[in-house]
Amino acid sequence: MRMSQLFSPTLREVPSEAEIPSHQLMLRAGLMRKTVSGIYMYLPLGYRSIRKVEQIVREEMDRQGGQEILMSALMPADMWRATGRWLDYGNEMFRLTDRGGRDMCLGPTHEELVTSIARDEIRSYRQLPKLLYQIQTKFRDEIRPRFGLMRAREFIMKDLYSFDRDADGLEQSYRKMYVAYCRTFDRCGLHYRIVEADPGAIGGTSSHEYMVLSDIGEAALVFCDACGYAANVEQAEARGVWEGIGVTPAEGGRPGTRPCEPVPTPGVRTIEELVSFLRVQPDQMLKTLIYVGDGTPVAAVVRGDRELNEVKLKKALGVRELELATPAVIEEVTGAPVGFAGPVGLKPGVRIIADLEVPSLVAGVTGANAADTHLVGVSYGRDWRADVVCDLRNVVKGDACPRCGLPLDAARGVEVGHLFKLGTKYSRVLGAKFLDEDGTEKLMIMGCYGIGITRIVAAVIEEHHDDDGIIWPMSIAPYHATVVPVNTTAPEQLEVAQAIYGDLWALGVEAVVDDRDERPGVKFKDADLIGFPVRVTIGSRTLDHGQVEIRMRRSGEVERVSVSDAARRVREIVDGELKALEPRHHSLD
Ligand code: ATP
Ligand code: MG
Repeated sequence: MRMSQLFSPTLREVPSEAEIPSHQLMLRAGLMRKTVSGIYMYLPLGYRSIRKVEQIVREEMDRQGGQEILMSALMPADMWRATGRWLDYGNEMFRLTDRGGRDMCLGPTHEELVTSIARDEIRSYRQLPKLLYQIQTKFRDEIRPRFGLMRAREFIMKDLYSFDRDADGLEQSYRKMYVAYCRTFDRCGLHYRIVEADPGAIGGTSSHEYMVLSDIGEAALVFCDACGYAANVEQAEARGVWEGIGVTPAEGGRPGTRPCEPVPTPGVRTIEELVSFLRVQPDQMLKTLIYVGDGTPVAAVVRGDRELNEVKLKKALGVRELELATPAVIEEVTGAPVGFAGPVGLKPGVRIIADLEVPSLVAGVTGANAADTHLVGVSYGRDWRADVVCDLRNVVKGDACPRCGLPLDAARGVEVGHLFKLGTKYSRVLGAKFLDEDGTEKLMIMGCYGIGITRIVAAVIEEHHDDDGIIWPMSIAPYHATVVPVNTTAPEQLEVAQAIYGDLWALGVEAVVDDRDERPGVKFKDADLIGFPVRVTIGSRTLDHGQVEIRMRRSGEVERVSVSDAARRVREIVDGELKALEPRHHSLD
């Protein structure tokens, strides 16, 4: 491709709507343009990289026995009604009506459709397992589309669905995908962590998320470098402090010698206000939050410096619906205005659920369930008891790793891929059954596995860039190399550039030649911005010695080679970099 012809409108200015480097660079380098918020058009350079990611994903899916299909993006509402997701998906689903008045949607995901085709076409255990996947545009009307391709409303996803005879089969399919995902992200040059999204689940982990660590990530993670444990903060297990001091939750902490007594705290409601008013530290306080779980009020208690984790609370209570109580309910339960709730002297019958750390608090401070009053000197076991003591708080950096006990680290992450065991959730409601070897009819056991193709491209740029532009990993660079004659009006430079460009393609190196009549500075800036991994520069200074310059985008290293060796040397460099990206993961064992 000649740069003079390439449709890659670069920008000098950073577009104001783009807040993060990957989004800015994709616009500046002319990789894409916006149609409307969260919806983009991919231009030649951007689309070449997207297609390379697709190809890597395709190869890794095929390697594990995946079979590529392409389902329709448009589908009727019926099957979504059957699974209840026509309602559950809410406003995130793009809906429309056909000319016959039938409800339809643009697929945000394809469990319903793939399960119905499996139901219609698979009859016998002999046809199982099946791994069916597609690479397709998905539509989700996200509440907050942002960060360009990171959270778009129209984006490309790979979604694979596994169908197995039994739980063992599902386990095998799941493991195949686990390996395929590691290999895929390795090849794309991403550094990632695999997070157990539900590590405590009985019967093995049922979900893994592949997270690229980044400050712009929406997910909060904790991980342990010592043993490899990693989890979403929502799921990460906190260890109880009595493990360190030898007190069980049933016994409670050592009662303090200080009596429990009320102190007036007029208008002091928040932890921060209490800190300055009573001169106590947040970790001496008991934070009591009143929730309503499936219609019943409950008091949840965590230490004042901790954040209550609603996912854990919901699980512990075993409720479907959980929300913070309204002021009216809080007043009814505590007999006091909002801000003075505490576990001592709540309305009888209200269940109290406390975090693991709470029983060992000695001489704690908490609301007195009376207006403008708090209690000091509160001891667990003496002054109050919880009905349930369990892990309720968010884990933070420095907490003990639940697996090995060493301090955890924390970071934010971008989810690029997701593995999920579905079991019979969809096959049951849609009736996807098969005849097993023993002659009985059974439900197919399913798994689903997604990769955000376009999100990967953004995540790669987020990880691989500098002030001058993108630094593509060789595997997904739109082109491997650019050939730049410094002075396009010098015929001998142009001639050498054309020759090397031809040789590169002959050796299978994807190259562009910058034949534009521009100043060298402009060409070099554009080359850095677009991020070609290798630049071959042809200028009079070196050409006088029969040489050209090869410059590496990532390291800035420069070497001189003879004109006749140039293409071969670039091929070597490309191969070397591709080799370095070869997967570290070949199997699980
Ligand atoms: P998130 O929590 O980020 O909304 P999700 O749980 O909705 O993700 P899945 O339904 O598991 O995502 O989709 C599979 C993959 O598709 C994700 O791992 C992610 O890489 C990608 N993806 C999901 N939503 C978007 C989006 N709005 N824009 C771009 N990629 C997306
Ligand atoms: Mg989502």
